[in-house]
Amino acid sequence: MSDDSLDQLLRHCGLPRLEARLLLQQVLQVNHAWLVAHGGEPISSDARLDFATLVQRRLAGEPIAYLLECREFYGRPFRVTPAVLIPRPDTELLIEQALAHLPADAPLQVLDVGTGSGCIAITLALERPQWQLTALDLSDAALQVAQHNARQLGASVRFVRSDYLSAVTGQRFDAIVSNPPYIPLGDPHLQQGDLRYEPANALTDGADGLQAYRALAQQAKACLRPGGWLLVEHGYDQGETVPALLQQAGWQQIRLHHDLAGQARVTCA
Ligand code: GLN
Repeated sequence: MSDDSLDQLLRHCGLPRLEARLLLQQVLQVNHAWLVAHGGEPISSDARLDFATLVQRRLAGEPIAYLLECREFYGRPFRVTPAVLIPRPDTELLIEQALAHLPADAPLQVLDVGTGSGCIAITLALERPQWQLTALDLSDAALQVAQHNARQLGASVRFVRSDYLSAVTGQRFDAIVSNPPYIPLGDPHLQQGDLRYEPANALTDGADGLQAYRALAQQAKACLRPGGWLLVEHGYDQGETVPALLQQAGWQQIRLHHDLAGQARVTCA
């Protein structure tokens, strides 16, 4: 094995083995099996440079998902760029609740507010082919990423640029789902880890973390058919404030759902 072999490079780059391997696979455009079979071979100088750049960026704290331009959500790969929030496993609870709450075989009209990478709308469209999905976002750059993901994954979703529900006024849906920005401004988490690199307006409302729920509580009723459902993800510590806010706005049958760690994460109304 030569000193500048792929294996040596992985071992000495300063990153955990898994991250180093994923970045090298990305540079060489190969899979894990290829790397195992060719680990003793030398790396070209171009590839070495590209790999070193990615390693430096990762060591500086950039999210691995942005460096790989990919994150898996509900078992499918989604393209992610710094224009969109990185899909979180927590959001899979919102998917599960939507699948559990709404009839699978009815031709429902379902709306996703603040779609980002499109992970929620696209997953629902693929899991429930009978449903018709509309996805809104204020950011053109995010909509482009979401559209790319829909094409790539073969999902039929209508994407519309919209500030909250303004672009769908007068339209009626059977369900509205959303994982809106809910971190209060000034929360120290915004300065930590991956969050430092994610779009600020996807993370925080710039206020107390409840602005999006106030807007949805006001606007969503006019866009729901009678008996329709609103399903929102929220922070683990918003399990009292979000249901209370919805109740005050006249919503009924409010139900709180907890994730596997026992945290209140989704409210349906
Ligand atoms: N709907 C997207 C997600 O759940 C984006 C959410 C957001 O930007 N707040 O990942």
